[in-house]
Amino acid sequence: MPPTGARLFLDAGADALLIDGGAVRAVGQPAPAGARVLDCRGLTLTAGAINAHTHLYSGLAPLGLPPPLPPPETFLQILERLWWRLDRALDRDSLQASAELYVAEALLAGTTTLIDHHESPCFIEGSLDVLGDAAERLGCRLATGYGATDRNGGPDEGRRGLEECRRFAARRFRFVRPLGALHASFTVSDATVRRAAELGLPMHVHVAEDAADVADAQQRGYAGPLERLLTLGALPRGSIVAHGVHLTEAQVRAADAAGLWLVQNPRSNAGNRVGYARALDASGHVALGTDGYPADMRAERAALHEESEKAAHPLAEDTLAARARGGHALASSLFGVRLEPELAPGSAADVVAWRGEQVVHVVVDGEVVVEAGRLIRGDLDAIRARAREQAPRLWQRMKEHA
Ligand SMILES: [Zn+2]
Repeated sequence: MPPTGARLFLDAGADALLIDGGAVRAVGQPAPAGARVLDCRGLTLTAGAINAHTHLYSGLAPLGLPPPLPPPETFLQILERLWWRLDRALDRDSLQASAELYVAEALLAGTTTLIDHHESPCFIEGSLDVLGDAAERLGCRLATGYGATDRNGGPDEGRRGLEECRRFAARRFRFVRPLGALHASFTVSDATVRRAAELGLPMHVHVAEDAADVADAQQRGYAGPLERLLTLGALPRGSIVAHGVHLTEAQVRAADAAGLWLVQNPRSNAGNRVGYARALDASGHVALGTDGYPADMRAERAALHEESEKAAHPLAEDTLAARARGGHALASSLFGVRLEPELAPGSAADVVAWRGEQVVHVVVDGEVVVEAGRLIRGDLDAIRARAREQAPRLWQRMKEHA
């Protein structure tokens, strides 16, 4: 579907924007005849934020996700006792409720692009459709792929995950783009990594999030997971490497030279106690992600500031701006439009109008998707009701899948 053809004028005084064909065409007054005028007087217009690594499948987590028991002491135990139980418990209805809630709240927080990494081992085939349809319906940009893994069902499970990426990539959407994905080097065989390389899609994969991923790759005879994935051909240029907490500066420079994007997730890294990603500044292509936390990028920027201080690795003056540039450049490469942190003629028309800290209007691809704080293409009350209904079902299934 083409972007909306109607001309839209965001009337914010001297900062007014004329939008046409999904892009910003002019800045400033007056409103041209025939354009729809959206009252933005007294509001501040910014580019929509980019969440460069997240998991829509964890969208119900804020609704009472039970704590892992016994309390985990390592990153692997957090995965085994919490997230790998949650992902095995997902079915179509709970995934749909989760995705709708996550996407709706992202838009209402001013985040207009989500780069997702998906896993639901007991509901693989068709799972990406559930995510893609939710984003397409609500009007949020989404790039997603199934994070193939061998950890539950061996190489056959890995093959099914990659097949889901391939199948989904044949669909055409307005707001959604396909990715290839692997869970992480430490949960896939060489055969699955090689099969991922054959997809011909940009990949999205967790790399060196915890030292366990590095130790596993070294046991397999590689310098680390980055080298393993590169050697086996599964990280084509434009692929997305999430975390990189345990990469050295030399490895980060190698990732940069290989044309890879890196995504820093400070809240998640602190929550999982895996460490602070110190070496990422050695690349000029680093974005910010929430790794399953709600997609309010203001909270993630605050966490980056806080965690860098705690790690005695204070941010350079330009770091926050560099992360925003990285996120927009990454999204531009995936969506084939000019997403820019500073709106100017030619920028894609993903715009948020703020009253102070409050999101008032949101425009994605030139279309108003939130107006006066209300979703236009979905019913937030119904989305929240479905989420409240599905969450306890999901927690019960997690017990059964423990
Ligand atoms: Zn993640």
